[in-house]
Amino acid sequence: MAIERTFSILKPDATARNLTGAINAVIEKSGLRIVAQKRIHMSRREAETFYAVHKERPFFGELVDFMISGPVVVQVLEGEGAVLRYREIMGATNPESAADGTIRKLYAKSIGENSVHGSDSQDNAKIEIAQFFSGNEIVG
Ligand code: ADP
Ligand code: MG
Repeated sequence: MAIERTFSILKPDATARNLTGAINAVIEKSGLRIVAQKRIHMSRREAETFYAVHKERPFFGELVDFMISGPVVVQVLEGEGAVLRYREIMGATNPESAADGTIRKLYAKSIGENSVHGSDSQDNAKIEIAQFFSGNEIVG
């Protein structure tokens, strides 16, 4: 499999509980490398743009409010098949369905406050990375 990059967010429920290091440990143990990382507080506009694909979903307003409720850590992860690999170690959207050992099983509070975001395709990874990082901020 090829070396890829994916985009990750440690969500406000994770930063509020001081879980940045714990989640990063799971990421690094999986073999993925954190090649860019910064802690930011998203604006409403940034969150609405980021989740625009979900704007017709009933939870869109709740999701945007949650994502701007506190700081997040945005990251670029690199490794073999990084997009799928990260989805595997994140676990299912709903932590009740997530496999043992996954980030969401270990740490998520609910289907909404589920600790992490990961891109769902290589195309979306490129778009999402470009929304938050310039090329010289990513050091592989
Ligand atoms: P994933 O993050 O696993 O790719 P989705 O892309 O379907 O999941 O949804 C994006 C985010 O929207 C989820 O991570 C979660 O924070 C939120 N979300 C999804 N479904 C619900 C729901 N039924 N109720 C509240 N929030 C939800
Ligand atoms: Mg998604």
